[in-house]
Amino acid sequence: MSVIAIRGGTVLTIDAERRVIAAGGVLIEDDCIAWVGPAHEMPLPAGADVIEAHGAVVMPGLVNAHTHVAQTLLRGGVSHSRTLYDWLLNVVCPGLAAYSLDDHQSAIRLYAAEALRSGITTIVTNEEPSYQDSERATRAALEAFAETGLRVIYARMFRDQLSGGAATLFHEERSKAPHLADAPTTVPLDRTLNELERLARTYRQAAGGRLAVWPSPATTAATSAEALRRTARLAQDLGSRWTIHLAETTLEREIRPISPVRYLQGLGLLDARLLAAHCVDIDDDDIALLARHDVRVVTLPVSNCYLGSGIAPVPRLKAAGVTVAIGTDDANCNDGVNLFRDLRFLALLHRGVTRDPTVIPPGMALEMATIDGARALGLDDRIGSLEVGKRADIIVCRLDRPQTTPVHDPVATLLFQAYGTEVDTVLVDGRVLLRDGRRCHADEADLCRDAQDRSVAILERAGLRWPPPWPDPAERAVAPGSPSTSRG
Ligand SMILES: [Zn+2]
Repeated sequence: MSVIAIRGGTVLTIDAERRVIAAGGVLIEDDCIAWVGPAHEMPLPAGADVIEAHGAVVMPGLVNAHTHVAQTLLRGGVSHSRTLYDWLLNVVCPGLAAYSLDDHQSAIRLYAAEALRSGITTIVTNEEPSYQDSERATRAALEAFAETGLRVIYARMFRDQLSGGAATLFHEERSKAPHLADAPTTVPLDRTLNELERLARTYRQAAGGRLAVWPSPATTAATSAEALRRTARLAQDLGSRWTIHLAETTLEREIRPISPVRYLQGLGLLDARLLAAHCVDIDDDDIALLARHDVRVVTLPVSNCYLGSGIAPVPRLKAAGVTVAIGTDDANCNDGVNLFRDLRFLALLHRGVTRDPTVIPPGMALEMATIDGARALGLDDRIGSLEVGKRADIIVCRLDRPQTTPVHDPVATLLFQAYGTEVDTVLVDGRVLLRDGRRCHADEADLCRDAQDRSVAILERAGLRWPPPWPDPAERAVAPGSPSTSRG
């Protein structure tokens, strides 16, 4: 049996009592937490591997409840200053269509490196493998995810039928970039659901229970009612959950006389198995329905602002009793994978919008990325807090850094002072993936070089063009005192 003892740090348990243990200790036996309490009382078996955590916070690993890992290689500039559907149809779809299986695996390795370094241990990734080779692509991706050591819910995303309004919008957006090859935007439903069920059953409990496969119909504007009903039934049969992009923009309300939340209610699909991402364009009646049916919501504040989609009413969702998790969304509409940064943004955004500095207090924010994130995924009996019997998904954040000094309330310090780079040790399922700032099972310099080279090649193959450089040459020619003049 492997035994690891983390001792000396401030332990944020995020258990039911929200215990904070100064100079605490956590004992890990194999993949589970065996003991939590004051360090001086901790039993220390002979041969235990001791991680000293003085000057640090020891807390549960963070849950990124909505992301799209593959898109990581499409960031770096090509995505900015676009609305959602311009970005989706003129960057994401043609970009992903130019990926090889090796490219996808490279994206997974890069993403994992960034995620682990900012304390993320669990993700829900919405992946849309190319239609031609989707099953092989999914298997290759799942193997690569297993190697990262992360806990991963692979939400297989699909569109089977565009509504009339969505088809018109898709056509208009695509016409902005006629030089790009057309990538398929819909897939056959039967084939997709059959494949999804096969994969979900094959990978159930794979990698020691760290992998799972869920269905993820993209939106109510791009999937049929039949697809939504069959998806929910499949999730029930599998004992899993399902997720969807819901009310991300005003599009869904423009194409139907009722809100997308009420549309799903009419189909009988609102319940705790549903993880609804975004929920930006919703009203008080929608919020009441989400609360009444215990639908889990994941908010994506940086992505919603990056794409100019709007701001989800998170304080009102919380006040109504809805479980709200947080996600980064794609790395190329954020452009990062860092929940510390996004939690701070979330809190400041809503304080500014509501003109109330008490909304999203630090404890609530951390809960959204830990225990509420776990609850949103139906995993709160296994992860999300430091309690005996739970899986050892643990991070150690050093607070003895300039930016996190002084510290009087470690929870507030984590929310408002930390950059995320304070994370220096990460365990998932009791396996040490990052220790004292060093990756244990990967060469990051190598994987970054590989990702950079592959990204350049993908953009070239896809024909993706860059926006005008800064400064814009056209503006430079006419602007007096512009950089071009001053630089000669
Ligand atoms: Zn998304």
